[in-house]
Amino acid sequence: MRKNIVAGNWKMNMDLEKGIQLFNEIQQLLKEEVSGDQEVIICPPYIHLSSLAKALDADVKLSIGAQNCHHADSGAYTGEVSASIIASTGADYVIIGHSERRLYFSESNSLLAQKLDAVLKNGLIPIFCIGETLEQRNGGTYFDVIKEQISEASFHLQGNDYSKMVLAYEPVWAIGTGLTASPEQAQEIHSFIRNLLANKYGQDLADNLTILYGGSCNPKNASELFAQPDIDGGLIGGASLKARDFVDIIKALS
Ligand code: 13P
Repeated sequence: MRKNIVAGNWKMNMDLEKGIQLFNEIQQLLKEEVSGDQEVIICPPYIHLSSLAKALDADVKLSIGAQNCHHADSGAYTGEVSASIIASTGADYVIIGHSERRLYFSESNSLLAQKLDAVLKNGLIPIFCIGETLEQRNGGTYFDVIKEQISEASFHLQGNDYSKMVLAYEPVWAIGTGLTASPEQAQEIHSFIRNLLANKYGQDLADNLTILYGGSCNPKNASELFAQPDIDGGLIGGASLKARDFVDIIKALS
């Protein structure tokens, strides 16, 4: 079912103590100020997952997610964390295919296909990220890039699995740069993605899919972005590290 979602991606920030403090501040503000049907997700470093799950206030509608996972269920992969381990912490979501994973850890579309399988098999919901670089945008190949990222990593999935996914369009040139995609630029890609999925899986599935925008989203630009017909919320980096800003972005999605 199509949902309104704001997810915070803390990336590699916040030690455990500061993370719990920020999480509690966010919960407090949500309790005092937010009453809509928005779903809120926080994706901290792995280390924080179980502590945040335990700190969850039963009166607050909030979910926890990881920022990545390994594609195998278990085994000799020193330093890695599997989807089944993530599930055991109480998390519900896993970000897959973030551009920083693609760029700094050479994650390919075929590896991401395996990660999506692992996440779904363990009953978790993938937040599957796609997006073009500045060169690809300026070179006019961005529609092809997005199509390739989506088809190569996810078109092996059956419709019943696909309907559980959340997608996030994050243009690489807008991440952490202060350069937000204009609402029209973002809407153009979101609508392209929805059409691509309608062609593959049917209009009904595409209409029910949640597609988030990410890239320098902040309390000032969030309302305009979220007002676009195919933008169902945001995946927030820097602004999710400040409780006030993050909750203001959530309030912009009503
Ligand atoms: P910023 O909001 O800091 O641009 O990061 C976006 C992002 O990468 C979220 O996953």
